[in-house]
Amino acid sequence: MGKDKKILLYRIDEQAKGVIFVVTEDNESVWGKISEDAYSIVSFDDVFRDITEFRNNFLDYEQLTDELIGAINGRGAVFREILERFDDNRLNSFNFFTRYYSDTLRDVFTEARADIDKAGAFFNTRALKKSTEYVNEVFNHIREVMRDDWNFDFNSESDMKAFRLSFDKIIIRGNDRNDIYTVADTALVTFFYDFSFAIHKMKLYVCDCKYCHKRYLGSRNSVCCDSKECQSLYQRDMKNEKRRTKAKDPYEIHKTKLTTYLSQHTSALKATVQEDMKYVNKFKARNSEFKQRMQDEIERCRAENIIPGDEQDKLLQKIEAEIVVYQSQIEDEWRVAQGKKK
Ligand SMILES: [Zn+2]
Ligand SMILES: [Zn+2]
Repeated sequence: MGKDKKILLYRIDEQAKGVIFVVTEDNESVWGKISEDAYSIVSFDDVFRDITEFRNNFLDYEQLTDELIGAINGRGAVFREILERFDDNRLNSFNFFTRYYSDTLRDVFTEARADIDKAGAFFNTRALKKSTEYVNEVFNHIREVMRDDWNFDFNSESDMKAFRLSFDKIIIRGNDRNDIYTVADTALVTFFYDFSFAIHKMKLYVCDCKYCHKRYLGSRNSVCCDSKECQSLYQRDMKNEKRRTKAKDPYEIHKTKLTTYLSQHTSALKATVQEDMKYVNKFKARNSEFKQRMQDEIERCRAENIIPGDEQDKLLQKIEAEIVVYQSQIEDEWRVAQGKKK
C-alpha cells in the first residue's frame, strides 16, 4: 500500500460567511492532528468569485487538461512537457478551484501514467485501456459539473430536482472542538450544492459593488461589498445623504437654524469675554433650554400633522431675540467684573 489518497474536507460557516477547507489524507488517524497550514478559510465572496472565474475560463483549462489526457499513453517526453505546463498553470493561479482541481487531477494523471508505463511494458492492453478510461471519467465528471448552471444557482430559482447523493461526514471532536466536515467528492459537486444552498438560506444575492465594481454576495438591494475600503466610502456617502435629507426635511429646518444660531452666538460671546470659560459655560447652560422649546414645538407639529411654517418661524425669531438678550446680559456681567479688577 502506498500513500493514502488525498481528500478535501469542507465546513460552511454561515455566521462568519466563510468556508473552511482542509486538504488531508483519507486516513482517520491523521485528522485529529491536522496542521494549521492545511486549513484554508475562504470567504463566501471569494468562493463565489473563484467559481465564477474558474467557470468563465474553463475552456482554457479544459483544453490544457484534454491535451494532458491525450498524451497520457503517448511518449514520456511529450507527457512530461504538457504536465509541466499544467503545473505552471496551477502555480500561477490564485484561484482556489484551479489549484484544487489541478492538484487532484495531477495525482490521478501521474498515477495513471505509472500504471500505463507498467501495462505497456507487459503489453497488457486491457490494463492500459482501463487506466486511460479512468482519467477520462474523472475529468468528464468535473466537466459536467462545471457546465451545469443548475449547480451554481445561488438563489435556488431553478426547477426542482431530487436525487440521492452519497457523501461522507467526518467529525473532529475534543479540545473544545466539535467540527463536522463533509468529505468532498472529486468533482466538488456536493460542495457546490451545499454552498449555493447556504447562500440561498442566508438570503444572499449576487450584487454588484457600487464602489469597486466587483460582484459579491449580499442582501437584496445592497450596494456595497464587505471590503474595508468600500465600506468606508459607503459610510461617507450615507452620512452625506443623511445631511442632505435632513437639510430638506421641513421638521428639521427650524432646529438646524437654531443650532447654527446658537453656535454663532457662542463664538461671538467667547471673543467678547476673551475666552473666559466661566462666562462661556454660563451662556451654554441655556442651550438645551432653547433647543427644547423648538423641539417641543416641532413635536407638536408632527403629532398634529402640521408642516412647520410661519408660526414656527415666529417662534424661532422669538428665541433668537432671547438669545441676543441673554448674550449681552452675560457680556455685561463680564465687563462689570473686569471693572472691579482694575
Ligand atoms: Zn467593493
Ligand atoms: Zn459595476
